[in-house]
Amino acid sequence: MGLDFDKVFVEPLFHAYLLEGQSDILEKACEELVLRILCSSRPPCRKCDSCVKFLSGNHLDVKTIDGDSPIKEVREFLSDLWMSPSEGDKKIYIFKNADLLSEYSQNTLLLPIEEPPKGVYFIMLCRFFEKILPTVKSRCRTVSLGGEEPENEEYETYCRDFCSSLFGKDAVSVFSLLDFKKDGRDKFSEFIRYFCGYCRGRVKIALEKKDDISVSAYLSLLDTGLKWSEKSELNLNMSLAVTGFVSDCFFAVRGD
Ligand SMILES: [Zn+2]
Repeated sequence: MGLDFDKVFVEPLFHAYLLEGQSDILEKACEELVLRILCSSRPPCRKCDSCVKFLSGNHLDVKTIDGDSPIKEVREFLSDLWMSPSEGDKKIYIFKNADLLSEYSQNTLLLPIEEPPKGVYFIMLCRFFEKILPTVKSRCRTVSLGGEEPENEEYETYCRDFCSSLFGKDAVSVFSLLDFKKDGRDKFSEFIRYFCGYCRGRVKIALEKKDDISVSAYLSLLDTGLKWSEKSELNLNMSLAVTGFVSDCFFAVRGD
C-alpha cells in the first residue's frame, strides 16, 4: 500500500502534527514528514546535506522523545526548546508513543505547541487519537494512517460473529466461520485485513466509552491480526495457518 505523501502532508506544512496508526506506517510517515520539513525539494531529495544527516541519524536538530520514558526527559525537552538550532534554522521534536505520555506531560506541551519558538516543529505519533488530550489534539494537524476499516457489511457481520464466538469461547463456531479451505489463502488474507480494521474500530469505540476491558481485548486481537497479516503472505499450509491464528486469538482474549 503506497501512501501519497503530497496528499497526506498538504503544503504549507504546519508546525505541529499528530499522526495516528500502526508503528511501521507511523515510522515511514514520520520519516517523510521530517524530510519534508528539512528539505526544499518535493519529493524530498534524500541526497542533500540535511536529508543525509537525518537519514543517517546524525541530524542534531531532530530529537526524539519517547512517551514511555520518564518525566525527566520531557522536562529536558522543555529547556532544550528555547535553544537555537545547531545546524540550520529548524528544530524538530518527535514524540514517539505520544499516547503513553501522562496527562501532566501532555499538558506541558500545550503552550509550546500553541506558541512555538521560531522554526520549531512537533511531530507526535500515537496508535489512537482517543488517547491524546483533546486540548493537545485540537492544536495539531491530525493525520490518520489507521488503515482500512471494514466498509463491507458482509465482513462487518462476519468479524462481529467471529469475535463474539471468541469471547464466548465457542471454538466450534470460530472454526466454522474460518472455513476457507475451498476459497484458499486469498480469502484468509482478506479476512485478516478486515479483521484488523474491525478491531481498530472496536478499540476506538471502547476508548470513547472508557471500557478498559474491551480496549485491552480488542488491542490484543488487533496485535494478533497484524502479526498474522504478515504471516498470511507466507507460503503456509492453509489449515495450519487458520489453526494458528485462531489459537492466538483465543490466547489474546483469555481474560486473565
Ligand atoms: Zn534533501
